[in-house]
Amino acid sequence: MNFVVLGAPGAGKGTQAQIIKDKYSIPVISTGNMIRDAMANHTELGENSKQYMHDSELVPDKIVIPMIKKRLVMDDCSGGFVLDGYPRTIPQAYILDEMGVKIDAVISLEVDDEVIVNRLMGRRICSKCGTSYHIVDNKPMVDDICDKCSSPLITRDDDVEQTIRTRLRVYHERTQPLKEFYNKQGKLRVICGQSDVHDTIKLTLAALEDL
Ligand code: AMP
Repeated sequence: MNFVVLGAPGAGKGTQAQIIKDKYSIPVISTGNMIRDAMANHTELGENSKQYMHDSELVPDKIVIPMIKKRLVMDDCSGGFVLDGYPRTIPQAYILDEMGVKIDAVISLEVDDEVIVNRLMGRRICSKCGTSYHIVDNKPMVDDICDKCSSPLITRDDDVEQTIRTRLRVYHERTQPLKEFYNKQGKLRVICGQSDVHDTIKLTLAALEDL
C-alpha cells in the first residue's frame, strides 16, 4: 500500500508517517531527510540544494525528481511506502503517475498557521541526541538542558518566525492545491491535528481503518 502524508511544516507529518510505517511495515520516504543527509555528506545533490533549503524555498524538480525516482525503485519499497514531503506540487504528483505508482490514500494533517508558528518558535532540540522539547508544552526538567543526556538545548536555525512564515507561505501556495487534486480522486483523508499528539494518532489510525 502506498501513502502520502500532506501537511504544513510543523504540522507533525513525520510522526503520523511513522505510525503508518509501523501499521503496514513499510518504509517512510522523506525527501526533506534525503536532502538534509545529502547536504551533511556534501554530495553534489546536497550542495545544489543548500541555497534553496536556506531560503526555505522548494528544491527544484530537476534535483528532487531524479532523487525520488531512484529511491522508489529500491527493494524496500516493493511492498509499499509512506511519502513524507513528496509530492510538494501537482507536477511532482504527475511524476508518480508517470512512474506507475498508485497512491492508495492521502492523509492531510490540518493545523492552524498560528498554532504552528507558536509550536515551532517554542521548539528546542537537544544539541546531542535530537530530543525535541517545547518551552511551554513540553519543558525539560532543567531549563535548556536535555532530560535524557544533559546536553544543552538549541533552537533550530529554521525555527525563527520569519523562516516559519516563509515555509507556511510556500506550503499554501505550492502544496495545498494537492488536497483538491487528491480529493477529486477520492483519496484524501483529512485529519485535524490535536494538541495532544496521541489524539492525532488515534484519528490517523481511524482514518485508515477501512484499508
Ligand atoms: P521537510 O523536511 O519535508 O520540511 O523539507 C525541508 C525542505 O526540503 C523544504 O523546505 C524544501 O526546501 C526541501 N524539500 C523537501 N521535499 C521537497 C520536495 N518534494 N520538493 C522540493 N523541495 C523539497
